[in-house]
Amino acid sequence: MTRSSNIIDNFIDGKYQAPLSNQYLDNYEPATGLVYGKIPNSDSADVEQAVAAAERALPAWRNLGLEQRADYLMAIAQEIENQLEPLALAEAIDNGKPVALAKMVDIPRAASNFKFFAHACSQFASESHAIANTAINYTLRQPVGIVGCISPWNLPLYLFTWKIAPALAAGNCVIAKPSEITPQTAAMLGVICQKVGLPKGVLNILHGKGASVGSAICNHPKVKAISFTGGSATGAAIATQLAPKFKKLSLELGGKNPALIFDDCNFENTVEEVFRASFANQGQICLCASRLYIQRGIYEKFKAALVEKAQALVPQDPLINETRMGAIVSKDHLEKVLGYIDLAKQEGGTILAGGEQVQLSGRCAQGYFLQPTIIEGLNNNASCNQQEIFGPVITLQVFDTDEEALNLANESQYGLAATIWTQNINRAHQLAEQINTGIVWINCWLLRDLRTPFGGMNHSGVGREGGLEAMRFFTEPKNVCIKYS
Ligand code: NAD
Repeated sequence: MTRSSNIIDNFIDGKYQAPLSNQYLDNYEPATGLVYGKIPNSDSADVEQAVAAAERALPAWRNLGLEQRADYLMAIAQEIENQLEPLALAEAIDNGKPVALAKMVDIPRAASNFKFFAHACSQFASESHAIANTAINYTLRQPVGIVGCISPWNLPLYLFTWKIAPALAAGNCVIAKPSEITPQTAAMLGVICQKVGLPKGVLNILHGKGASVGSAICNHPKVKAISFTGGSATGAAIATQLAPKFKKLSLELGGKNPALIFDDCNFENTVEEVFRASFANQGQICLCASRLYIQRGIYEKFKAALVEKAQALVPQDPLINETRMGAIVSKDHLEKVLGYIDLAKQEGGTILAGGEQVQLSGRCAQGYFLQPTIIEGLNNNASCNQQEIFGPVITLQVFDTDEEALNLANESQYGLAATIWTQNINRAHQLAEQINTGIVWINCWLLRDLRTPFGGMNHSGVGREGGLEAMRFFTEPKNVCIKYS
């Protein structure tokens, strides 16, 4: 996987190899701001090699018995669990997230993804439709073939495997590309595949920039489906390119998620959970709450409780076990988030907590740290309420009625996830029905069941992943109609 000085290579045809151009990119550690490794700056030539390897592997992989396919996925899951510590450490170094979070969430979830789809492939059934006394239709669901899986930097191994596992489970061969900002655990996955003996060419992992290698994967004529998670603008660019090519496309994109907090919520629990929903992973989860709508009766009290917690959450070295807030993923991203905080001030916002970059000492002196930031006083049309910031920044607004809260929540181009905090079950159900998001959590956040459909509406994406939706995406349905003689 890596050579001297932490150089990562591409994983093609079961082997690690340098990019054909021999060009590499720097890989930064966000907590130190220093280059700590190199990754391939791959291009279309590397994609050609990976596709050729996948093509050779495809016939045997798609014809493999389901149990054997599942056994491979279970073995990968087991090996991820065995390597919890090194994977979590690598994730924390590469992404800046607290190592404790990587250990508790990211890496276990990567293992769960493989376990879940190992089971799913044997449980996945297809439909039949009878025409009484005349005929029977049955649906064959066949692997799509060679598919591309492209993932972002915020939950690196977690999201990478969320795509790869169902694609493999459904009998496809995969060309996968992690974010160039967080390549490390994806590179380690190749070693795991070698260790468990995954047939060569079944999974190929390429590194590099979206505009070169990412685009080459998407546009390769033999890559029949693309599962993409990332920003909405990138999703739009990919959709524009691929529409005339008629490829299957799943787009999991950005969010600007509302939290509707009512007077009758369970106050302590709601403060705790909404705070977590706002700032977990430095606010860099597509599902994080970023627009908080709080009913007037508890507005001041809720605000004070959030501010107190924000002031107590101090960013620290992600590699310290006790750290709960790590580094922002990159210098560019830190500057983008700080830019939004400036914009909020210009648009009349008041910073209640945070708002400033944090300078740590010692090894993290040049790292990208930012205080958890709470802003009030912006109207719903302000940039910070309409554009995705994707950092530890939330805005607060007050509302009086359910209808007002719903309208504020729905005034957005995005539609990924919403949370509703109330003890009134009728209100909760009614709002859940009317809110324009693909996911609604009531009195909880990020409580995941991998069987459920996952995805967003509008600019938050097209299609759903998770459970059988993912198995459907990664298969081509073919209807067969037999007329009774
Ligand atoms: P990004 O769109 O910049 O990049 C995502 C991936 O796409 C990277 O691997 C990148 O190299 C690649 N890429 C970029 N341009 C490409 C192109 N033209 N063709 C093919 N691939 C290309 O996103 P990011 O900054 O890495 O991630 C943050 C974004 O991801 C946020 O908007 C966040 O909301 C979103 N996200 C969404 C979900 C979800 O499930 N909806 C989950 C996590 C993150």
